[in-house]
Amino acid sequence: MPLNVIDNAIDNTIDLPININTIKGFLAEDEGQALFQAARDTAHLGASLEVGSYCGKSTVYLATAAKIKNNIVYAIDHHRGSEEHQLGEEYHDNKLFDPQAQLMDTFKAFRKTMRDAQLEDTVVPIVASSQLASRNWSTPLGMVFIDGGHSMDAAMTDYRAWAGHIAVGGILAIHDIFPDPKDGGQAPYTIWKLAKASGLFEELPTVNTLGLFKRI
Ligand code: MG
Repeated sequence: MPLNVIDNAIDNTIDLPININTIKGFLAEDEGQALFQAARDTAHLGASLEVGSYCGKSTVYLATAAKIKNNIVYAIDHHRGSEEHQLGEEYHDNKLFDPQAQLMDTFKAFRKTMRDAQLEDTVVPIVASSQLASRNWSTPLGMVFIDGGHSMDAAMTDYRAWAGHIAVGGILAIHDIFPDPKDGGQAPYTIWKLAKASGLFEELPTVNTLGLFKRI
């Protein structure tokens, strides 16, 4: 049987190493499956990289695919929470707040997820800002998933830092695409439009709120 036939058989029955519903996060199941497929189908081009790991929900999808392909995932997050996770903000979770530091700390939850899912041999956590992590970066990437801060500044920084590292044939995925401002913040959609207009990417069908492009 050719390899792609085996691969396609996996599509609807992704065997995740952990009950994904036990992991905190904001990723829908169809979006997670699309990330899994993208990571699997681009593994031959280079590592996967995500910005904004939070408690590791998307990382599990990416890394499960990477593991099958003997690939790795770089998981970047300063683990201090995005704007909307801070104390008093809409998506604040008190259980992820470090009272001693008076700061968010999602790294402990992230490590637990990776350990429980037995993905510590596949995921390289980078506990730093996206910009700092990108400063000396020169490794081509099979795919990049941007789901970091949703301020315009943060989203633009992530796009500028990482879009150029995607190998030809690789995939750019951007979470939380809301063309109508009534549905959500516009920063991810703004960088989606930048990618579309850049001439560097071919638009792929959007999955729920997950925008997808192929590097050409
Ligand atoms: Mg998101």
